[in-house]
Amino acid sequence: MSGLSVRGLWKAYPNADRKDELLVALEDIDLEIADNEFVCVLGPSGCGKSTLLRIAAGLEKPSLGTIETSSRPSVVFQEHGVFPWLTVAQNIGYPLKLRGLSRAQRNERVEQLLELVGLSEFGGYFPAQISGGMRQRTSVARALADDGDLLLMDEPFGALDEQTRVALQQELLQIWERTSKAVMFITHSVDEALMLADRVVVMSHRPGRIIDDIAVPFGRPRD
Ligand code: ADP
Ligand code: ADP
Repeated sequence: MSGLSVRGLWKAYPNADRKDELLVALEDIDLEIADNEFVCVLGPSGCGKSTLLRIAAGLEKPSLGTIETSSRPSVVFQEHGVFPWLTVAQNIGYPLKLRGLSRAQRNERVEQLLELVGLSEFGGYFPAQISGGMRQRTSVARALADDGDLLLMDEPFGALDEQTRVALQQELLQIWERTSKAVMFITHSVDEALMLADRVVVMSHRPGRIIDDIAVPFGRPRD
């Protein structure tokens, strides 16, 4: 099966302003993401992108519809993704610990992941001691440690300065080419979507629905 399959998804919340009405955040969403496919979900603020991601991640229930995933998804959020009380290496090693890997296995994997995201020198640092870009690298590495086939990212570079963001976009593509997971990457930036994606799914709001689904024609360099 594909990395992610969403069918007939609706999500309604109680409307805070009008108690007798519902706020329809997502209307009849169908979305398939194949293995190895990098899909950006693009749309204005409030169109339901984060809601879609939280439901795909299993963090929230749909009102209607079905979600199937090829494996337990790994999630990267914009901020606050890393545990401040753990070092960079401990953060990355945390999913491995949950999966019951031995200390030696964890050490080896954590070293590999630190290298993959360019943090080999920083394993012993705490999140407060490193830059925002490094914290996001830590988040990405921890998601990769999860070892699933599906990566869900909610504006992971949105809080970073332009230069760091461009560097991390490039790194993410390189990592993705090596690990080839199904990726759903949320953004409100057209540039970011075109730069990263195989396919761009465009959403509009009131209510949130998919209005276009575009294969990026010029593509990225591929092996
Ligand atoms: P986006 O990520 O595209 O900015 P969201 O998914 O955050 O959009 O929100 C979509 C709509 O659903 C918005 O109108 C938002 O106010 C509403 N919404 C999101 N989460 C909740 C919630 N927990 N309770 C009520 N309304 C919500
Ligand atoms: P535990 O809490 O199980 O004793 P640790 O706190 O020692 O584990 O570390 C968690 C994970 O991070 C382990 O895989 C460990 O090997 C790794 N690790 C800890 N510190 C570093 C470091 N400075 N560089 C690389 N890996 C580290």
